[in-house]
Amino acid sequence: MSLKSTIIRTGLRAIDWSRADIWLAPVARGDGVILMFHHVRPATFGAFAPNRLLEITPEFFETVLQMVQSAGFEFIGLDALPERLAKGGSRPFAVLTFDDGYRDNAEHALPILRRHGAPATFYITTGFADGHGRLWWLELEEAIRRLDRVIFTHAGRDFDLPARDDAEKQIAFETTYWRLRGGDEGTLLAVIADLAGQAGIESRLLTKGLCMNWDELAAFAANPLITIGAHTVSHPMLAKHDDTTAQFEIVESRERIAARLGVPVNHFAYPVGDPGSAGPRDFALAREAGFTTAVTTRPGHVFSGHAAHPHVLPRVSVNGLHQSRNTIRSLLSGVPFMLWNKGRRLNLD
Ligand SMILES: [Zn+2]
Repeated sequence: MSLKSTIIRTGLRAIDWSRADIWLAPVARGDGVILMFHHVRPATFGAFAPNRLLEITPEFFETVLQMVQSAGFEFIGLDALPERLAKGGSRPFAVLTFDDGYRDNAEHALPILRRHGAPATFYITTGFADGHGRLWWLELEEAIRRLDRVIFTHAGRDFDLPARDDAEKQIAFETTYWRLRGGDEGTLLAVIADLAGQAGIESRLLTKGLCMNWDELAAFAANPLITIGAHTVSHPMLAKHDDTTAQFEIVESRERIAARLGVPVNHFAYPVGDPGSAGPRDFALAREAGFTTAVTTRPGHVFSGHAAHPHVLPRVSVNGLHQSRNTIRSLLSGVPFMLWNKGRRLNLD
């Protein structure tokens, strides 16, 4: 999907050939790993599925949990992470995290978590639970699925992209997605709203169809394995917004979740979470808002050095494009991230 995923995929293949995961793991593996998931649901997509990286099947989720355990990792909840980092442990730890609050998490992931007795943290975007937040990356996919041409103007340039078959739709999605993601978020939302309108897509129906509402979340959060974290109000790329907006998004999501669900909300996930979406200003805001930890999508294992930087925690994405045992073995080894981070254990700026 991106240059980054191409590099990681190439790295994974290279590791597979050389089995570097075996001989480099003692150096590369961290004290633990925070795994990131989005959708867990049976595969139903066709050839055009540009967001497929964000979903894995329940069967593969079960495989991941089994592999994590047999590789010697201990499942811990996020509440236990700071102390674990400070004191260390005899075994590496694994923390399971899910972003956005999708209904399939309750339907398909929770039964598997229960079978393994594995705790997990679910980061909730309050606007999605309200039913009006915008899953813009899915709106864009759905719009391009329905349209034959993708016509928009961005930064003074007119685009007219053919989208008659799956191959053309894929190119149209990639072009539109990366063009918009590189710019300001208001324009991104406006262009996608226009395309969704042309395609007859009701954005709220998409959100309500996929995300848990507050009643569902209340039932879900009652399970002792589950920790609820915050993931802002409207899912913005925080670093692109002014201080007031970023602070509101972080603080308000915490207060709203606490008020609606009556649970402590001590953990935060930066939406999108790459360096262009969450930077040092946002890490400081998450700390000032009182969160104990905050996770990015910067790839990497967690090392003891992160104890001093609990608001810039890296994660390992379990990517729907690579649902294989070899991939999971490589991810758990830490080797792809040692290469990706050029040997740096902490990636903080
Ligand atoms: Zn998210």
